[in-house]
Amino acid sequence: MRKKIVAGNWKMNTTVAEGVALAKALVEAQNGVPADVQLIIAPPFTHLVPVGEIIRGSRIALGAQNCANHTSGAYTGEVAVPMIAGVGCQYVILGHSERRQYYGETSALLVEKIRLALEGGLRPIFCVGENLDQRNAGRHFDVVGSQVREVLFELTAEEASKCVVAYEPVWAIGTGVTATAEQAQEIHAFIRGELAKHFGKALSDDMTILYGGSCKPSNAKELFACPDIDGGLIGGAALKAPDFIAIAQSY
Ligand code: PEP
Repeated sequence: MRKKIVAGNWKMNTTVAEGVALAKALVEAQNGVPADVQLIIAPPFTHLVPVGEIIRGSRIALGAQNCANHTSGAYTGEVAVPMIAGVGCQYVILGHSERRQYYGETSALLVEKIRLALEGGLRPIFCVGENLDQRNAGRHFDVVGSQVREVLFELTAEEASKCVVAYEPVWAIGTGVTATAEQAQEIHAFIRGELAKHFGKALSDDMTILYGGSCKPSNAKELFACPDIDGGLIGGAALKAPDFIAIAQSY
C-alpha cells in the first residue's frame, strides 16, 4: 500500500520564532489526523534545527526545500545533503516550479540532486507541472510526461521507488485556482501509467503521487478522494496550523 502524505512547503516564510510557534501548534494538533497519514513540514534551512527539536518524537517528519548538487566544497550559499540529513531531515523537495522558473533548475541538475539526496538517505519529493500557456495549448500531458521521463527514468527502479512525486500545475500554485479533481486525477493517473510502463505496475502502484496547488481545507477532501491522489504538497495553507491539520484530516 502506498503511503498517504500531507507535506507543508513553508517556502521563504516565517521568522525562526514564528516557525517554532507553528511547529508547536502542529504537534499539539497532530492527533486529529488519521494514523496512516504521514505529515511532513519543510521550513527554511535556518529553521531546520529548532523546528526539528520541536517535532522530534512526533508524527511530523522534517523536510528541506532544496539541496545542492554537490556534497561539500566551494559552493557559496549552497546547503548539501549530508548537512540536511545531519539535522534530521528525511525528505527534500526538488524540482519545485519556483526553483525551475527563478533559479533555472533543469532536469539534468535535478537528476544530480535526486541521486545525491538518495545516496544521503533522503527521500526526494520531486515536483512536476505545466504552466498556464502549456495547459491552454493542451500540452500538459507532454510537459509533465517529459519532466517525469527526463528525471525519474534516469534512476534505477530501487531509486525511483524511494521518490515521492508531486503534481503541481504552475497555474494553481499560490493563485487560489485549484485544478478540479478530474483534472488532477487524469494527470495523476497518467503519471502513474508512465511510471508503470518504465518501472512496472507493482512499483508504480506503490509510489505516492501528491497534488499541489491552492489545496485548502475546502477542496482537499474531493482531491484526496481520487484514486491516484495520495495526498498533498501544501504551500500557503501550510502556514496556518488549523488549515494544514484540516487538510490532513480530509482523508
Ligand atoms: C507549492 O508551492 O508547493 C504550493 C502547493 O503552493 P500553494 O498551496 O500556496 O498553491
